[in-house]
Amino acid sequence: MQRITILGATGSIGVSTLDVIARHPDRYAVHALTAHTRVDELAALCERFRPQVAVVGSADSAKKLTRLLREKNLKIQVEYGEAALCAVAGAPECDAVMAAIVGAAGLAPTLAAAHAGKKVLLANKEVLVMSGRLFMDAIAASGAILLPIDSEHNAIFQCLPHGYQRSPAQHGIAKILLTASGGPFLTRDVDTLASVTPEEAVAHPNWVMGRKISVDSATMMNKGLEVIEAHWLFGASASQIDVVIHPQSVIHSMVSYVDGSILAQLGNPDMRTPIAYALAYPERMASGVASIDLTAIAQLVFERPDFNRFPCLKLAYDALQAGGTAPAILNAANEVAVDAFLNQAIGFRMIDQLIARVMDMLPHRPVTDIDDLIEQDRHARQVAYDFIQS
Ligand code: NAD
Ligand code: MG
Repeated sequence: MQRITILGATGSIGVSTLDVIARHPDRYAVHALTAHTRVDELAALCERFRPQVAVVGSADSAKKLTRLLREKNLKIQVEYGEAALCAVAGAPECDAVMAAIVGAAGLAPTLAAAHAGKKVLLANKEVLVMSGRLFMDAIAASGAILLPIDSEHNAIFQCLPHGYQRSPAQHGIAKILLTASGGPFLTRDVDTLASVTPEEAVAHPNWVMGRKISVDSATMMNKGLEVIEAHWLFGASASQIDVVIHPQSVIHSMVSYVDGSILAQLGNPDMRTPIAYALAYPERMASGVASIDLTAIAQLVFERPDFNRFPCLKLAYDALQAGGTAPAILNAANEVAVDAFLNQAIGFRMIDQLIARVMDMLPHRPVTDIDDLIEQDRHARQVAYDFIQS
């Protein structure tokens, strides 16, 4: 029996994870569930999955959750705040941690899971973008097992040779091919992008996801963050990672070998497949996702991404090349920009402009430690806010 902590249990990935776990009650039990503000939803999940601990974002939310759980006669320990998130991620009672908080808020608890040597199921890609080397060092030092949940990285992981050592050349790998749907604005007239609404931007053609990653998919910053994520997970340089637009989202990514072979992983666009893969690894188990009917799809289409349409993708490659604190600055500016766009404080096209501006204004340098990184993140956010105000 594996005991799981789910960071971000009320989110899109959190709910899909619980759906998979519910299919295998003989294999998995829930140690802790966490949510930020959606207390009613968390209470319902607590009733169904009976964790030992539930964590929320504030004292008020904790009070409300305690009352709701008492009404249901449930004896579950209720905590709140970042220290509590770190505690449930590193708790001796837990074997595996699903890191599914969105954005930099997941940094401390996901690092706590890495330091504690847990099996870390990583959906929260912003953690790796921000703290790449520190995070990978923490995983190596503790002997933690890191399994990618992001569908592309999970696909690549499945296409790599057994015992892969984070060195493409050593394993005869020429390129990592990250597929991208291109999002809702792949074919829209570029001149009209300035006026798209948040609702248009979050309407992804193939995937149902949280709002932040949906906007990231529309700008293709999501793919940019994934290039950086692939760099850290697989030890590939920027020139060894290509992005291929594939609007059907049937192939979730590929590995191209020096002998001319390309290995791909295919499936329906449903996150329960990579989640079940990582939970059961190295075994396989049912996820609730049906196989695709290849004859019904009939055609797979591929094209090169256009940096004029998707400048955020270029900004992310630039940040990876620059290294050091640059990806953390990129991520912070993006989080502020996406939030401002969703709150209708800036237009869609201002997202890439804001990020470029912040990147220009803040010189990047090597990362010293986690406190330094958090300070860089804070500073970049401040610069981005100031820019929006002006
Ligand atoms: P979501 O918005 O649906 O859920 C986010 C979760 O994080 C919620 O449970 C929320 O309560 C929690 N949360 C939000 N802010 C928080 C804070 N400040 N402190 C603590 N908890 C907080 O997001 P999602 O779509 O499930 O994405 C989660 C992560 O997984 C993101 O990093 C995303 O990039 C990644 N991811 C998602 C998908 C997908 O299909 N949804 C696919 C690949 C990767
Ligand atoms: Mg992805």
